[in-house]
Amino acid sequence: MENKENKPSNFIREIIDEHNLNNRFNKKVHTRFPPEPNGYLHIGHAKSICLNFGIAKDYNGKCNLRFDDTNPAKEEVEYVDSIREDVRWLGFDWEDREFYASDYFDQLYNYAIELIKKGKAYVDSLSPEEIREYRGTPTEPGKNSPYRERTIEENLELFEKMKNGDFEEGTHILRAKIDMTSPNINLRDPAIYRIKKAHHHRTGDKWNIYPMYDFAHGFSDSIEGVTHSLCTLEFENHRPLYDWFLDEVNAFHPQQIEFARLNLTYTLLSKRKLLQLVQEKIVDGWDDPRMPTISGYRRRGYTPESIRNFADSIGVAKRDALIDVTILENSIREDLNKKAQRALVVLEPLKVTISNYPENVTEDLDATNNPEDETMGKRKVPFSREIFIEKEDFQEFPHKKFHRLSPGNEVRLKYAYIIKCEKVIKDDSGEVVELICSYDKDTKSGSGNSDKKVKGTIHWVSAKDAINVDVFLYDRLFNVENPSLEKEKTLHELINPNSLLKLENCKAEPFLKVAKVGENYQFERKGYFAVDSKYSTENKLVFNRTVTLKDTWAKISQNS
Ligand code: ATP
Ligand code: MG
Repeated sequence: MENKENKPSNFIREIIDEHNLNNRFNKKVHTRFPPEPNGYLHIGHAKSICLNFGIAKDYNGKCNLRFDDTNPAKEEVEYVDSIREDVRWLGFDWEDREFYASDYFDQLYNYAIELIKKGKAYVDSLSPEEIREYRGTPTEPGKNSPYRERTIEENLELFEKMKNGDFEEGTHILRAKIDMTSPNINLRDPAIYRIKKAHHHRTGDKWNIYPMYDFAHGFSDSIEGVTHSLCTLEFENHRPLYDWFLDEVNAFHPQQIEFARLNLTYTLLSKRKLLQLVQEKIVDGWDDPRMPTISGYRRRGYTPESIRNFADSIGVAKRDALIDVTILENSIREDLNKKAQRALVVLEPLKVTISNYPENVTEDLDATNNPEDETMGKRKVPFSREIFIEKEDFQEFPHKKFHRLSPGNEVRLKYAYIIKCEKVIKDDSGEVVELICSYDKDTKSGSGNSDKKVKGTIHWVSAKDAINVDVFLYDRLFNVENPSLEKEKTLHELINPNSLLKLENCKAEPFLKVAKVGENYQFERKGYFAVDSKYSTENKLVFNRTVTLKDTWAKISQNS
């Protein structure tokens, strides 16, 4: 089957095209996404998901979801559930092909027995420290364990006892018998089974031994008939080992192809580090909107399309690179610009009374729901004598280039009238608490009555109609471009202390009262926002800022 869509080609697709030409897999394309259920998925995993499911789709093939659950101590059902939810949310479907490496424990055990019987695996009884010592280094060969020449019978008997729980953890391991002098350390008699008396989330207490990741991974692909096993570059050196296992038991050979993992500026993508952020409560859970997890992006208001578009746009490469996080941010901006309903919301309110506007009158003015999409129509926005504007849209002593409101100066209220600042009211401390303005009734937007022009246009909300909402503004979680390089510093030292700013009782247009989780809005001039799923209540909505409108580093303290 040819590559159907006109996606740009890449070296992986070229390899698949060649396999299809020479019939390596009978023109079949079968991939898998193989997460270890020991954490939530992050944006790096999203790249792998889009790649694996995307290739399967484009070649009319299939993609499995397989949990690589060989490490019972670190795995939890919560992670399995979150992974399923995240893959589905990204828009991919594994149909009935949800698999677990633990489904294959019996078969893997049989493969191990087969290797022992062929004289290709042995039980080693060196201590873990001795094993490390015997392994050698990248520049020095290792040496054989004194237990390497045990008889097949003895190995079978010991392995049986390992399985039955007769030995303590760390006393024996089963190793492949390959070559202790190999320049590839992965081939220096790697461990294939270890004793672990742990409860497994699927197999319970059945096993006292568990296969090593390297033993289980290649075989799982083979058992599932995966044709193209896509993985990140660090597994390149493991490929000869996977091939050795498959050859020795004469199993089906998938083609492993390695690609560069995604690294993003101002972001950490290691599950271990992300877990630490969660455990040390530096963030508010795996789905904290500052986390680079799929659930974090979802809560923050990212759309699945924006993440898929991002994954497609960065492509796949053979060499590790650091991708600028603004590429991801632009992807969500571009998507939401087309989709998001516009709304007027004043984040830091300053009261304005329009002294020549009648009391007890409300006008419903026309506002455009999305200038990028006429089909989204218009809505009515209430306007009245008392409104709120942003504090920062007024300057008592305006800078030269400040074209918004200042004493004696005029500004247009979007969708409404031109107003002029007549008087400034301050409290005892000298802070401006209210403005008295006048309006020009001939300047109503869209009326065509006046061709009066002013330099600035600002947003506003009618005071008596406004609803109160809380707004959370985010900045980058890390204060250095490449936090994974900062080995000397603790996580705490790398954290941007201003990564979250909470604004209470912001003033929103009344229609937002019914805003729901999963909807995206553009608060005009303020950015894209989404309802927070965790802290919103029936009485008050909380909005997360997904991203600012422009590609600037969000200086949230001054210029939100
Ligand atoms: P981490 O290093 O973050 O702990 P991992 O590689 O241990 O991740 P797995 O659950 O084993 O996490 O990964 C599942 C799949 O996702 C693997 O095929 C892996 O290659 C891929 N993957 C993980 N991180 C990235 C990344 N940053 N970029 C691209 N693919 C990734
Ligand atoms: Mg892994």
